[in-house]
Amino acid sequence: MPAERLLPTTEAEDLLALVREIARDELAPHAAEAEEQERFPRDEFRLLGKSGLLGLPYPERFGGGEQPYEVYLQALEEIASAWMSVGVGLSVHVMSSYALATFGTDAQKDRWLPEIVEGDRLGGYALSESQAGSDAGALTTRAVLNGDHYVVNGTKAWITHAGAADFYTLMARTADTGGKGISCFLAPGHTEGLTAAAPERKMGLTGSITAQLRFEDVRIDRDRLIGDEGDGLKIALSALDSGRLGISACAVGLAQAALDEAVAYAKQRTQFGRAIIDFQGLEFMLADMAAAVESARATYLSAARRRDRGLPFTRQAAIAKLVCTDAAMKVTTDAVQVLGGAGYTRDFPVERYMREAKVLQIFEGTNQIQRLVIGRELRR
Ligand SMILES: Cc1cc2nc3c(=O)[nH]c(=O)nc-3n(C[C@H](O)[C@H](O)[C@H](O)COP(=O)(O)OP(=O)(O)OC[C@H]3O[C@@H](n4cnc5c(N)ncnc54)[C@H](O)[C@@H]3O)c2cc1C
Repeated sequence: MPAERLLPTTEAEDLLALVREIARDELAPHAAEAEEQERFPRDEFRLLGKSGLLGLPYPERFGGGEQPYEVYLQALEEIASAWMSVGVGLSVHVMSSYALATFGTDAQKDRWLPEIVEGDRLGGYALSESQAGSDAGALTTRAVLNGDHYVVNGTKAWITHAGAADFYTLMARTADTGGKGISCFLAPGHTEGLTAAAPERKMGLTGSITAQLRFEDVRIDRDRLIGDEGDGLKIALSALDSGRLGISACAVGLAQAALDEAVAYAKQRTQFGRAIIDFQGLEFMLADMAAAVESARATYLSAARRRDRGLPFTRQAAIAKLVCTDAAMKVTTDAVQVLGGAGYTRDFPVERYMREAKVLQIFEGTNQIQRLVIGRELRR
């Protein structure tokens, strides 16, 4: 059952209708098989690009959709509901475009933003390293200025779209001053010395590529530095505030898909001569799942509306990420329970949903780190 949405404009209603059509006709029918075969959905990202969906929150002047976050996130939720790897990929792409769109100079934006928000190019966000995960400020990938370019050496870990992206928002060290020595670059995706390792073998999100990204004497033009030297961690964390809203929307889309599957199954499955939805034990479980989905959606929308009004939203984004991804984990686990033995098989999508939910509690800051962010904001 499609989620009921109160959208701010008729333009947004038309946009959501288009997104639902694409999700229903072009994404959902292929998701299970592609995930089983670990097929990267590059063609599907091209389709999103051609449909104007890769740059929804960015200005029209640069080819974006100029939609408020409230609308972009609901479109993202619909896409993730149909196919999680595509939803997460879209969210990562939008987050990867954020540094240039928000901190780039006019000249940088004029030069590079149109091609990454109006076309079908795909972005990656390269912050994490094997020894710098939750403690991102400990990263060691180094960028050394040499005339008109930087020379980058180091290895990034866990990079979504590694090897497949057309550009990366790269955080690298330019000085040995801890978090203040990190700088942000718009790195080209395909350039000499830049290689991706074999993809990680994950428990879910198997269509999405996650891999190490190696920089060996990679030359990045000096004019691709975003912000000033030393601004990198600030830019990275600011991007994550918005990115976490994207992951929240993906989580709600996944939970909605699991709820829909569970309700449909419970209506048609009979035991003891009755549809199992008629047993109150199960009906209450479904009611709790519905309450979790709707309250999670309200949480991310409330944070998004603050962002759209220019209000601070760091605490609200961390709360949304925590609430929405925990809800997705609980709802998908319960969906497996509602389907009984069938839920534990690959004949139904709920076991995949459950595997996909787990990673949402881990990336873009684990849910422990979200609590640290919320606590820090409360202490201010
Ligand atoms: C599928 C996938 C895709 C990803 N995509 C990207 C990407 O595109 N770009 C990118 O840069 N990164 C990406 N990541 C990396 C991701 O953001 C990190 O995995 C995450 O930040 C956690 O870091 P870690 O794995 O090193 O865990 P660790 O930091 O080692 O944490 C291990 C455990 O310790 C806990 N912990 C750590 N510090 C604290 C603390 N201070 N207080 C309480 N608990 C703590 C954590 O919550 C966790 O439970 C991706 C990861 C995955 C799995």
